[in-house]
Amino acid sequence: MNSIIKAENLTFSYPGDEDSKPVPALKGVSFEIEEGSFTAILGHNGSGKSTLAKLLCMINTPDSGKLWIMGKDMTAQDVTDEDIMNARRDVGMVFQNPDNQIVATIVEEDVAFGCENLGLPPHEIRKRVDKALADVGMTKYARHPATDLSGGQKQRVAIAGVIAMKRRCIIFDESTAMLDPMGRREVMKIIQKLNKEEHITVILITHHMNEAAKADRVIVMNEGKIIRDGTPKYVFCDPEAMWESDLDVPQTTELLFKLKNAGLDLPLDEFDVHKCAAVIAAEVRRKMEAQK
Ligand code: ADP
Ligand code: MG
Repeated sequence: MNSIIKAENLTFSYPGDEDSKPVPALKGVSFEIEEGSFTAILGHNGSGKSTLAKLLCMINTPDSGKLWIMGKDMTAQDVTDEDIMNARRDVGMVFQNPDNQIVATIVEEDVAFGCENLGLPPHEIRKRVDKALADVGMTKYARHPATDLSGGQKQRVAIAGVIAMKRRCIIFDESTAMLDPMGRREVMKIIQKLNKEEHITVILITHHMNEAAKADRVIVMNEGKIIRDGTPKYVFCDPEAMWESDLDVPQTTELLFKLKNAGLDLPLDEFDVHKCAAVIAAEVRRKMEAQK
């Protein structure tokens, strides 16, 4: 496996207030992310998802454990500032609130901002900004004031900024959480396209189970640890285990699970609504034929 990120037993605590003890946020997290893959991370508020994301982007440093980015040990004694800068170039992040991420008044200037910080020549920046805006379907808004955009459009501009910096891996930390259903769908389509067509490694932190079902792999976190890790089929096809942990499953899975318990012979892993409807219709037809 060609892993872009490898984590071994990562721990991290936030310093507590004056007289309180440190707050442990990660209690030994190990996993490997394959280059080009699409991983979703689920878990309750406070389970450590954002803390983990910040370690992977080198915003924070782990207290213990090991972290490799593109095979380079970022926790080694001899890690240089240049190594850290390179790792930050490889792994980028898109945050939750679209308003906090827009830094310039005009859309294309905002997208160019990160590239300017990388010190790239103007013609290269122009090329990258045009491509990134096209990738997120925002070309016609290039000269628009960023403040006039909808939440979904702002989030697409924020994503364009990260694309323009040519990250190998993008972590989306609940980047669809503040969007309406339409904005969420827009952004999810772009995320899937980046992964499938541009081969960017995606880590999607989300509370939406239907979004997680679109990933190749789902990691579930609880109290600073990984409690489940596997394909969407593996993680969601035991709905009772998820409900016991107070987590949801995609609505399609819940419906299929209840119909299955009512006696229909159905798979639980049809996450697409249309396909789910089709398997139910086919099974109902089969039952009716059998009763004739
Ligand atoms: P999630 O993203 O899954 O909601 P976080 O990583 O934000 O979880 O938080 C994990 C734990 O760390 C929680 O107990 C949270 O209260 C604590 N925490 C997060 N950020 C801070 C901070 N800046 N200072 C102190 N504690 C924090
Ligand atoms: Mg969070």
